[in-house]
Amino acid sequence: MRDFSEIKEQVKAKIEEVKDGVQLSEFWQSFLGKGGVVTGLMKEMKSVPNEEKPLFGKAVNDVREWVQDVYKTKQAQIRQMELERRYEREAVDVTMPAAARTPGNLHPITLIKQQMIEVFTGMGFSVYEGPEIEDDDHNFTRLNVLKDHPSRDMQDTFWLTNDLLLRTHTSPGQIRTMDAQKPPIKVLVPGKVFRSDSDATHSPMFSQMEGLVVDKGITLCDLQGMLDQFVQQIFGDGTRTRLRPSYFPFTEPSVEVDVSCFECGGKGCSLCKGTGWIEVLGGGVVNKKVLENCGIDPEVYSGLAFGIGIERIAMLKYGISHMGMLFENNLDFLEQFKA
Ligand SMILES: [Zn+2]
Repeated sequence: MRDFSEIKEQVKAKIEEVKDGVQLSEFWQSFLGKGGVVTGLMKEMKSVPNEEKPLFGKAVNDVREWVQDVYKTKQAQIRQMELERRYEREAVDVTMPAAARTPGNLHPITLIKQQMIEVFTGMGFSVYEGPEIEDDDHNFTRLNVLKDHPSRDMQDTFWLTNDLLLRTHTSPGQIRTMDAQKPPIKVLVPGKVFRSDSDATHSPMFSQMEGLVVDKGITLCDLQGMLDQFVQQIFGDGTRTRLRPSYFPFTEPSVEVDVSCFECGGKGCSLCKGTGWIEVLGGGVVNKKVLENCGIDPEVYSGLAFGIGIERIAMLKYGISHMGMLFENNLDFLEQFKA
């Protein structure tokens, strides 16, 4: 009676060589697969004498079960090995120094904008942000900038269609507020504005902050009082304002507002070009026609409005000479504004 010892030796030798799942399945094929050695033993049954057939069959079953056990043991070992290899591959060395992360900081425009909003909300203003795409009506006509009015040439407009445009100022926010609200009104409209203009002190996109107050008995004195408080909080306690007559279609009278030079205190320096004064914003008493255009009776109510260039305030306050620096995202420049 055969004990299949030569097959067992073969199996033992072969299983030693198995190092991974692919070799393991090759092992299965060569012994237990369809054309495998152990499977082939059953075919020998035909040539075995009848009386020996039960014994032979049992012996073949025994060897098959033995090879299957060898296979299963190896399979468990390989699974364990592969798991360990994966743990090694995915291991994290917690003692390694972490990659440095530089904390960000607010952009100077954001810093100044927040400071300005804080000053005016302290005086009771609320904040409204209008759309950046406006129509002719809100951006020009109802602000008393009529068709063919020469002041339309003062602003180089990005037109989108015959009627739609990128707003050239935050003043349309005045119209939208007065449409939505009855006086008393005290609103601040910060936001981006767009003009086809670019040099050291101009950019095609910049930020403005509009202020509008409508109530009974509002005068130019209220405007100066508010702006005095504003410039003192932004530029320092001793800062004074000076109003010069100017012209805007939406205010009457209109003024340019200068501040006393915070660099030289008024003696004259390069920042103020020797004059002792720096122009910071424009404003005035709301033109009666604008109030009428919004259904507000100018015999009962009056208003004041102003528009401040946020970049200009940032450039003055931080001593930035070129407006482009505010838009170039140069980190060496921006990191200086860490709070
Ligand atoms: Zn000066």
